[in-house]
Amino acid sequence: MNIILFGAPGSGKGTQAKLISKEFGIPQISTGDILREHISRGTELGEVAKTYIDEGKLVPDEIVIALVKERLSLPDCKKGYILDGFPRTIEQAEKLVKFADIDVVVHIDVSINEVERRALTRRICPNCGKIYSIADKYIEDCESCGAKLIQRDDDKLEVVRKRIETYLSQSEPLIEFYKKKKILSTVFSAETPEETYKAVREIVLPFAKK
Ligand code: ADP
Ligand code: ZN
Repeated sequence: MNIILFGAPGSGKGTQAKLISKEFGIPQISTGDILREHISRGTELGEVAKTYIDEGKLVPDEIVIALVKERLSLPDCKKGYILDGFPRTIEQAEKLVKFADIDVVVHIDVSINEVERRALTRRICPNCGKIYSIADKYIEDCESCGAKLIQRDDDKLEVVRKRIETYLSQSEPLIEFYKKKKILSTVFSAETPEETYKAVREIVLPFAKK
């Protein structure tokens, strides 16, 4: 099953992607993670990407499209995959049609107020990638691997606001795009990731083992 997880920054799509990946044994392909990995390895591509990410802007289409195209050609994608954070522009979605056959787009709907609150309280483990919220419970170290949690540079207030603006102007139009193709399913982001996952699971289940 080939799935797109779509949603505003902080909608929880990364967490949902991990849950699907674990249950169905298909890779989570997060363009944000791939770009951050380039940045931490100090590649040329990473350097370029960082200038956009730090300003809450999108990395240019041709860069991201090439990364995804290459990633989808690897053998672990044969059984299916979850695209997390791609496509984010109409241009990306139009190119994707040429090299991927998408079964379903899961749109995780969340209010913009909530998006801001979540991004600001988000912490990530730099070691294993686990995502935490310090909204309810303050923690400093990763519960899985013990590494010290960090805040992403782009989760700081001004950048978060800019990312939301970018989302509304460049990414939100994709909802109409996929509605027209009749492959969009919307889920409302619930209190907890587990609750949201119940709804997400119902949507993706019919496409398993295809
Ligand atoms: P979030 O969904 O919380 O914004 P991501 O990790 O998905 O976080 O993305 C972080 C940043 O990486 C984005 O703000 C953007 O600059 C860049 N990025 C990720 N995916 C894409 C994409 N498909 N197209 C362009 N830029 C992207
Ligand atoms: Zn960890």
